Amino acid sequence: MTPAGRFAPSPSGELHVGNLRTAILAWLFARSTGRDFLLRVEDLDRARAGAEAEQLRDLAAIGVTWDGAVVRQTDRREMYDEAIGRLRDAGLTYECFCTRREIQEAPSAPHAPQGAYPGTCRNLGPAELEFKRSARPAAIRLRAEATEYTVQDVLHGEFTGVVDDFVLRRNDGVTAYNLAVVVDDAAQGVDQVVRGDDLLPSTPRQAYLAALLHIPVPEYAHVQLVVNSDGARLAKRDGAVTLADLALAGASVMEVRDHILQSVGLPSGSLEQALAAFVPGKLPREPWVWTGMGSAGSAAG
Ligand SMILES: [Zn+2]
Repeated sequence: MTPAGRFAPSPSGELHVGNLRTAILAWLFARSTGRDFLLRVEDLDRARAGAEAEQLRDLAAIGVTWDGAVVRQTDRREMYDEAIGRLRDAGLTYECFCTRREIQEAPSAPHAPQGAYPGTCRNLGPAELEFKRSARPAAIRLRAEATEYTVQDVLHGEFTGVVDDFVLRRNDGVTAYNLAVVVDDAAQGVDQVVRGDDLLPSTPRQAYLAALLHIPVPEYAHVQLVVNSDGARLAKRDGAVTLADLALAGASVMEVRDHILQSVGLPSGSLEQALAAFVPGKLPREPWVWTGMGSAGSAAG
């Protein structure tokens, strides 16, 4: 299997400039290291009809190329169940019947990190289990034997974060993101994960899970997100932020691409040209503040 990087959007709507910027950076990281570049649609949750086609269209328009067929997580249930089965057989899972509210209201376990699952269902006896099973479907949680785990990140260096008994399969039967992403990356030969740094806090959980599954931990690079003028993560409500809306405002796809490349200190032009000038260590370490394409870009008028 060829080593690969990837971009893995959720098909919840059109990609905005922040998503496109992360995709371009993931592409540059992969291509500059001779890796394949894969696209995976993370459609376990929040999928909107038609969004996947829009996203692929916009990625292609901006110059992102990918290898092989696009993979969808909803087609991979068997692989997730197999991985959960392996963990269960190793005694590393348990059933959890807690509602969100019960978790919020439960006293946290001693020495537990802030926000960690309090372990309410960790040691239910057979009678309790039988009673609870009759009342409510169970989620499957990891029986973690660590409370924190350390990962290496190309841009952030060493990062230590919380590991708790996180959910592997929700009680509505949907595979949890942390499990799916680990299984998918391993199955697809992804050994380099480039994504927004909002996902850095959950990365130790994923690396810990990979270790339990005897899966190699990929190289991580968590890139700065794009923020609006208030410093909040860029969102659709911040005006014209998708290729379609920017086109209506007079900015061509190539102008948007060049604007994104400038934001990471790369020359305008094709992604292949940007590749020749790409040095990961020179990436800006501050978030990019999106102020639109108006007077700042070449799209004015
Ligand atoms: Zn529980």
